[in-house]
Amino acid sequence: MALLFLSKGDDPVKWSAALRVHLPDLDIRVWPETGNIEDIEAAMVWMHPPGELKRYPKLRLILSLGAGVNHVLDDPDLPPGVPIARMVDPGLTAGMVEYAVAGVLRYHRNFDVYERFQRESRWKKLPTPDTARRGIGVLGLGEIGGACAQALSAFGFAVAGWSRTPKSLEGVTGYFGAEGLKPFLARTDILLCVLPLTAATRGIINRELLAALPKGAFVINIARGGHVVDRDLIASLDSGHIAGALLDVFEPEPLPSDHPYWHHPKVTLTPHIASLTNPETAVLPIVENLKRLKSGAPLLNLVDRVSGY
Ligand code: NDP
Repeated sequence: MALLFLSKGDDPVKWSAALRVHLPDLDIRVWPETGNIEDIEAAMVWMHPPGELKRYPKLRLILSLGAGVNHVLDDPDLPPGVPIARMVDPGLTAGMVEYAVAGVLRYHRNFDVYERFQRESRWKKLPTPDTARRGIGVLGLGEIGGACAQALSAFGFAVAGWSRTPKSLEGVTGYFGAEGLKPFLARTDILLCVLPLTAATRGIINRELLAALPKGAFVINIARGGHVVDRDLIASLDSGHIAGALLDVFEPEPLPSDHPYWHHPKVTLTPHIASLTNPETAVLPIVENLKRLKSGAPLLNLVDRVSGY
């Protein structure tokens, strides 16, 4: 069995070394040096060229190098019936939790305001915020959203989460489905988006959603740029309804140099670094699935092509 490594953004040398620690005999082909395409039974991919994966007649498994699989499913010529496994890695999740906690605490403790005060040489104390009354709303309560919600709950925040189906997580008030969204938003002072990007969630952070948040709320997006309707967020920031936004992901990436986010006084942005995949830890679920593929055992972390995640 040969494994195709197909990612322009990830280092094939590091990944090959990490894979060979666990599977020393694995035949790894780094795209575009594929050799005989009939040998390829599994492919590790990130942002592959559309149509490329249908070239491999024996392909039995697509392994996404990211937790999100929108980059795979966007391919209109994806070979039908080939299972897709997404990245589920405790190391990746831990990085996301750190970023989410840093972002929430920054707004909660008014660091954004104090940074402005410092630029103005202004010595001014703001009232200390009440943690237990600060509503944190996490959109998406999966592997990463659930871990973020629980980490924030441990600080004593009033944490709620929104998912497609009902979820029960200790310390987190659960809302779900279309009907649950409005009441969830009404109690949210700091919104954290950790949804997968699907047909149902594209553009979800739009004018209507932002208007349903209390005045002065903050928005943190660590999921995908396509979740946010940029012009609606900028209008809400300019009107003062939304007090600030921390954004890690954009559409397109890199964010064009003339985009209004770069210089918006209420926007903080980072270049899609909320969590980066570390081959040493992220290789483990991939190795496990390759072993399962070989032995015929059920594969892990499979994506439902219909729901898109
Ligand atoms: P999961 O698939 O584990 O969780 C997805 C969650 O979103 C689930 O709770 C699911 O609900 C919920 N959801 C999906 N669709 C809907 C919908 N239509 N309405 C309401 N809730 C919905 O994903 P992960 O937690 O592993 O990852 C989330 C996303 O984070 C990834 O897709 C990726 O885009 C992004 N990401 C970003 C990174 C970065 O560096 N910025 C790094 C890693 C991931 P239910 O529980 O009912 O199924």
